[in-house]
Formats: sequence, structure tokens, C-alpha cells
Amino acid sequence: MIETRCSGIHEIDIRSLHLQELRKEYSGKVIAEGDPEYDQARRVFYGDFDMKPWLIIQAANISDVARAISLACDTGLELAVRGGGHSVAGFGVTDGGIVLDLKNMKGIEVDPHSQTAWVEAGNTAREFANTAGEYGLATGLGDTGSVGVTGATLAGGLGFLLRKYGLTIDDLLAAEVVTADGRILHVDSEAYPDLFWALRGGGGNFGVVTRFQFRMHEVGNVYGGMLILPALAGVIESFISEAEAAPDELTTIANLIPAPPLPFIPPEFQGRLVLMGQLLYAGSAEKGEEIVQPFRDISAPIVDMLKPMRYSEIYASEQNMLSPKVVSHTMFLDRMDHDTAKTIVEHLQESNAPMRAVQLRALGGAMARVADDDTAFAHRQSRILANLGSFFNGPEDKEPRQLWVEEFARSIHQKDNGAYVGFLSAPELGRIADVYPAPTWSRLREVKSKYDPDNIFRLNLNIPPE
Ligand SMILES: Cc1cc2nc3c(=O)[nH]c(=O)nc-3n(C[C@H](O)[C@H](O)[C@H](O)COP(=O)(O)OP(=O)(O)OC[C@H]3O[C@@H](n4cnc5c(N)ncnc54)[C@H](O)[C@@H]3O)c2cc1C
Repeated sequence: MIETRCSGIHEIDIRSLHLQELRKEYSGKVIAEGDPEYDQARRVFYGDFDMKPWLIIQAANISDVARAISLACDTGLELAVRGGGHSVAGFGVTDGGIVLDLKNMKGIEVDPHSQTAWVEAGNTAREFANTAGEYGLATGLGDTGSVGVTGATLAGGLGFLLRKYGLTIDDLLAAEVVTADGRILHVDSEAYPDLFWALRGGGGNFGVVTRFQFRMHEVGNVYGGMLILPALAGVIESFISEAEAAPDELTTIANLIPAPPLPFIPPEFQGRLVLMGQLLYAGSAEKGEEIVQPFRDISAPIVDMLKPMRYSEIYASEQNMLSPKVVSHTMFLDRMDHDTAKTIVEHLQESNAPMRAVQLRALGGAMARVADDDTAFAHRQSRILANLGSFFNGPEDKEPRQLWVEEFARSIHQKDNGAYVGFLSAPELGRIADVYPAPTWSRLREVKSKYDPDNIFRLNLNIPPE
């Protein structure tokens, strides 16, 4: 254990620190402005967060993590804790503070007999899926291969197995956490149960997770992939209705976007609004083929790439996702009726943004069979998740794109006011009551007061100590 002094009294002035001496304390890399790797190391997934940290510590092990926490305590500098760097609100980087980047902590230990795995905090969804896939196993994570296992899990984790096996947190068995005072805790349902509850949806508020233990499922071979349909209101309505009626083995995502110029999309459809569906049936190919047939029957597919495949193949190439600048709004819908679908199509068609999108995910299934207060993620009964987004080029068009997204969200708002913390963008950080219902919020504040009374871990949707 490395003693830390998070007393609120910051005893070290950074001007008194010698970088060369500091570097010697860490097994991993310590990067500062002027180092050749600095610009690359401060970069996060989204291109709008151009911040300059004082130091970037790329931890190699748990001692580096504890030392970095101690340094943040001693100096009082803001600490950004980073896994995959996909925070929509830009929490993976800080101006003038310390970035603790765990991306090099990539260990994965699979125990095929118990069908569990210990996964270090630097892994991405794709890396975990690839390793687990070698054993014919999988734990559901996000829809994008480069999303960090840690950030997604701490938010809840909505992936391609959510209707069959629930959220990622429903497969979380234990976590190893370094707290603000430097303790290394093994956290599970019996040891520190309050913290275990809070980690499952409460984000990075309570400490730095160095590894997670997950339950895995026999999901080696699946049936699914991409199905592109025309984005007509009736098609959207039918897609969501089929997705909600399908057995739990099927989880779907519908992305409504102008078709990108990809080689497998016929040129006459490129640039036109399409429904780019991703379907995953966690079961046999024969049954999968039968279950996805109603989706093929909605309208003649523009592209049909549904096939038997390995689970990890669901993660598409991300070549066209380099540092996007995006404004977004996340929400839940109670239903997809014709008027809502029509409004969505109209909004997407009227915008001239280089890329704009609505992502729809039919929820339910195993996710909804967990009680709201079992985990800090409390939106178990929400029916459909909708993310609205628009790319922008720079400061000149950011505000109008932001206003477009907000007006769009108002135009399709129904009764469910909830929001998923994992998709919350910077302008939405005031939506705390939408993310955490009152009972969840007061419980989270109690846990925060116990494990991080000085709010060292504050660069997140912050839960202030009581
Ligand atoms: C393209 C894209 C696709 C996405 N798809 C999905 C999806 O399908 N399902 C879903 O549920 N979410 C999805 N998300 C949201 C995603 O889960 C969150 O943005 C998540 O926080 C990203 O985790 P990260 O590790 O990549 O990000 P980071 O920016 O590295 O981390 C995000 C936050 O998590 C916390 N954190 C990270 N590592 C640690 C750690 N070791 N210990 C303590 N706290 C830590 C910190 O508060 C940090 O600010 C997506 C996001 C993007 C950008």
C-alpha cells in the first residue's frame, strides 16, 4: 500500500518537483509537454478535447496507479483517469492536471472451467472479445471495439448480449480498486458490498479500478452482422417493433445515418439516409437465420451481410472514426410510433451536417429482469435508448449543431426522462436527476463520502461527497 494524504491540504507545489526524479518512481511512462509522445498521449477518441495536461502517467501496474493517485492528492491537481479514452464528455483528459492512463494494463486471465475472466483496466471491448473468443466465451460490452472495458462497465455497459444476459455489470463478479487513501480493495458482493453496488453504474467516482472479474457465457459462434434498409418511417417503426418482439437471444442496434461511401454499399445509396442495423443472435446459425427473417422482410435490404460468425466479428473496422467532433444528446423512448419515426427522418434529412445520426437500441430482456435498486444503473425498465448526434467542423458550426440536437431531442421526447451516464455529453452534465433517481443519488453520495471524501475522483459525472 502506498500511503496517500488526501487531507484537502495540498502539500506539494509542482514547481518543486523534478521530472527526472518523478519518472524514476514509475515503471510506466511519464510524459510531459515537450516529450515527443506528448501530443499523441493527450489525445482522446473525440477530436474536440484539445487539452494540455501537466503530466500523463501511463501506468504499468497497480503501484503506478497508487503513486499517481498519491501525486494528485499531494498536489491538488485535477486527475483524469483513462481507460479506452471514449468519454463522450471528454473526461479522459485535463488542462494542467494529471492524466492516469491505464491503456497499457492489458492482462486478461481466462478461467475456462469457471467461465470467468480477470480483465485489466486497459483492455478494449474488442481485445476482451478476441481473447474470450479463443475459449468460445464472451461477456457483453459496447457496440464499438475500441471502447474501454473499464469506462463502459462503470457506466453499466449496454452491448450485443444485453437482452440475453443483461448489462456488462450484470456479469461483473468482482473488482480490484485503488481508493483515494491508497488502499487496494478486492470488491465483490460480500467484501465492500456498498462499493460493489456503486461501481455498477456510478462511474469512476470511487477509486481507480485496476481489474475486473467477469462472468462469461458460451457465445463463440453467433448469427448476425449488418443489415441495411431504407430509412423510411414505416421501416424504422417495424424494425423496433420486431426487435422488441424477438426472443432475448437477439439484440439489435439501428443506426439511422446517411450511408457512408463504403465499398459494400451500392453507390446510388451512398449519402442517402439508411437504417444501418446491427443484429446479433446469440444462438445457433439455423435458429438465428429464422429469427432475423422478419427484419429481412421489412423492406428489400440494400445490404445484407447477416451470416454465421464469431462473436468478436460484430466489431466492425473503425477506419472512418478518426477524432470525430460530435455534439450529442442521449435519451430513452417509451415507444417507436409512426409519428416519432417520421420526425426522426425529417430531422435527419433537413440537416446539412457532414454526418448526423440517430442510434436506436431496443432494450428489455435480461437487462429488465434486474431490480432498479440492485445496481447504481437504475433504468432497467426503459424501453428504447436513443442517441442523437451530429458531427461539426469547428467553433463556427458547433453551436448551431448543438441547438439542432437539442431541438431534435425535444421534438421526440416522450415520458421517460432518464439518461444513461455512458452517453452523457459535456452540455448534458446538469442532467444528474435524469441519470440517478433520488434514492440512487443519496446512496451514491453516502458511498462517495466513505471512499473518496475529498473528491479526488471528480472528473466524471461527479457525485459530491456529503
Ligand atoms: C463510439 C462510442 C461507442 C460507444 N458504445 C457504447 C456501447 O455500445 N455501450 C455502452 O454502454 N457505452 C458505449 N459508449 C459509451 C462508453 O461506455 C463510455 O463513454 C465509457 O465511459 C467509455 O469508456 P472508456 O474507458 O473508453 O473511456 P475513458 O474516457 O477512458 O473513461 C471514461 C471514464 O470512465 C472512468 N474510468 C476509466 N477508467 C477507469 C478506471 N480504471 N478506474 C476508474 N474509473 C475509470 C473515468 O471517470 C473516465 O472519465 C460508447 C462511446 C463511444 C464514444
